[in-house]
Amino acid sequence: ATPMSVIAGVGRAAELGVLVRDADALQRASEVDTLVFDKTGTLTQGTPQVSDVLLYSDWDRQQVLHAAAHLEQGSSHPLATAIIAAVPDLPAVDVEQFRTIRGKGVSATVAGRTLLLGNLALMEAQQVDCTPAREDIERLAALGATPVLLADDRQLLGLIALRDNLRPESRAALQRLHQLGFQLVMLTGDHEKTARAIAAEAGIDDVIAGVLPEGKAQAIEQLQQQGRKVVMVGDGINDAPALAQADVGIAMGGGSDVAVETAAMTLMRNDLHCVVDALAISRATLRNMR
Ligand code: ADP
Ligand code: MG
Repeated sequence: ATPMSVIAGVGRAAELGVLVRDADALQRASEVDTLVFDKTGTLTQGTPQVSDVLLYSDWDRQQVLHAAAHLEQGSSHPLATAIIAAVPDLPAVDVEQFRTIRGKGVSATVAGRTLLLGNLALMEAQQVDCTPAREDIERLAALGATPVLLADDRQLLGLIALRDNLRPESRAALQRLHQLGFQLVMLTGDHEKTARAIAAEAGIDDVIAGVLPEGKAQAIEQLQQQGRKVVMVGDGINDAPALAQADVGIAMGGGSDVAVETAAMTLMRNDLHCVVDALAISRATLRNMR
C-alpha cells in the first residue's frame, strides 16, 4: 500500500504544478544527488534566432540563407524553424532526396545541387574543408551561439550562427538547486564551446557536449555507474531514452508527447522552479515517513 505521506506528497506536488505519474518516483527523487539538464528547450527557450551569416565563397548572404531554408523545410528541429523564420519570402524550388542526419544536420538536392547543412562533425564526415571557418566557429561558439555550416559538394559556402537565450528563470532555479546541494550537469548534442558558454550563464557545474541522440541515455548510465543518483530533465523526443534511464525523469510541460509518456514526473508549467519544488517535496515526504 502507498503510505499516506506519499499520497499527500503527490497531492502537494500537483498543487505546485508537478504531475507525479509514479508514486515510487517521489521516494527515488529523495535520494538524488545529480541533476542532468537537456540544453535546448529545457535550460534555453528552445526558439533560437539567426544572429550572424558568414560567407566563404562567391555565394552572398541571401543565397546562403535561401539554400539553408530550402534544406530545412523537411526538418522539425528548432534550428530548422529558426532558419526558415529568417527568410520571410522564400521562393519555391525543387527539393529532392531530403535526408536528416540525426544529431548532425540535413542534406538534400536543392534546384539540382546537392547541399549539406549542419555541424562540423557532419562536414568532416563528408570531407568538406572547414579551415576558413575554424576561427569564426570558435569565436561564435564562445559567445554561446550555435554555428551551422552550409556546403556544396565539398566546398564550404557559408556559416549561419543561431543564438538560443536562457529561459528567464533558469539562473534563479539553478541557484536554488545549488543551495539544496545538487550537482548540476548539462547534456547536449551542441558544440562543446557553445554548451560551455550557456552553462556558465546558467550556473551549471559540468557539461557533456557533442552527444548524439542515442548517446544521451548512455551518458546518464555512466554517471550512475560512478554511484550517482540522477534526475534527468528534458523536453524532446531525443530525450526519452535518457528520461527512462535516469533514476527519475522529469519532462518539461511543453515537451514532446514521447518525453511526457516516458518521464515519471511532468511539469504542468514550463517553469524550472517546479523542478526545485518537486525535489523539495520529495525530501519532505520521505522525512515524514521516517
Ligand atoms: P540538442 O542536444 O541541442 O537537441 P541535436 O542532437 O538535436 O542537439 O543536434 C546537435 C547538433 O547537430 C546541433 O547543434 C546542430 O549543429 C546539428 N543539427 C542537428 N539537426 C540540425 C538541423 N536540422 N539543421 C542544422 N543543424 C542541425
Ligand atoms: Mg531539448
